[in-house]
Amino acid sequence: MPVEGQPISHGIIIVNDSGEIIDIQAQSKNQRSADVEYYEGIITPGFVNTHNHLEYSYVKGLIKPYQGLPGFIKSIVQIKQNVRADLNAIIQADREMYDLGTAAVGDQTNTLITKGVKKHSKIYYHSFIELYEAISEINSPETDFRHGKAYLAAFDNQGSVSPHAPYSVDPELLKLIAQEAFVRRLPISIHNQETESELDMFMYGRGALYDIFHKTLHPQTWIPTGSSSLEWFLPFFRDSHNLLLVHNTYTRPKDIIFAQSMHSRLYWTMCPGSNLYIENRLPHIPWFQKMNCQICLGTDSYASNTSLSILREMQILQEHFEVDFNELLQWATINGARALNIDHIFGSIKPGKNPGLVLLEGMNPDKPIITDKVKIKRLA
Ligand SMILES: [Zn+2]
Repeated sequence: MPVEGQPISHGIIIVNDSGEIIDIQAQSKNQRSADVEYYEGIITPGFVNTHNHLEYSYVKGLIKPYQGLPGFIKSIVQIKQNVRADLNAIIQADREMYDLGTAAVGDQTNTLITKGVKKHSKIYYHSFIELYEAISEINSPETDFRHGKAYLAAFDNQGSVSPHAPYSVDPELLKLIAQEAFVRRLPISIHNQETESELDMFMYGRGALYDIFHKTLHPQTWIPTGSSSLEWFLPFFRDSHNLLLVHNTYTRPKDIIFAQSMHSRLYWTMCPGSNLYIENRLPHIPWFQKMNCQICLGTDSYASNTSLSILREMQILQEHFEVDFNELLQWATINGARALNIDHIFGSIKPGKNPGLVLLEGMNPDKPIITDKVKIKRLA
């Protein structure tokens, strides 16, 4: 499955030692050549996971599922205060992702703990340096932003400074991030409409999310906008760069219509495993398909998922919405590569690219259904 172009039955992929695709050829069924390795199943390009928090790999199994996002945020704050981050869990998660066919990851980053792992990984990482300062009381927005840039430099500038979420970022800080993205044309990622109380907070200044972020901390300074969070933050960004909206669990058709009319380079990152874990709910995928949204996939982290497999995310969507495998594969590969501006290397099997090659064993190419029996084998 080259992804860009029609599936090729009994195709031959010629790669060099570094994994670069040299050529793709068709071959007749009965004609075998001694210098070709043969596999049964489906060969796909490496997957692009557009949303993870690698640094939370050590939180695996520590947070109770189905608490809703406000409960989840409380739990993760407590864990960050009380449990020491474990580098071994991060190393392990990086290896697992590679073995599960992941070629590239868009990774939310708050600390420097993943720096060495990313540097030596076989996976390509785009680090979204995640800034949050609901009301910049301790630091000025300029100082927060400078810190973000310094972190980005520590990750060899392979990434971009991004806002955590509309409910956790000061508007002045958002302006600085948007300005930088506009000038440097970098992809930006933001958590979007992940919980129902996000709408309550922005519309009316109430609800569980408001209570966590503003009621006790900043009751005077934060006032509701009377709009959805999406309507509030999207106008900050212009379409000289990609914008990844992550989760979209509570996004309504009117939100999609609004967003698509405001920004021409939106990517809608779905993290179904995490959404089920936190909110026990999924974004309504057919709305996004109908409105021609660029959909990509993410696993989110082990804080809110039981696996970092993109194939597992595809399986969840196939089971809940009966999405065609070809379309799912596009979301899992080329769309993510485009979102992260790396589609010249990743996302499809094409001469000149080095996308990674993944064999899905136990899948019938004529009727590709993802089941628990499908095995992932890394070929390049
Ligand atoms: Zn996240």
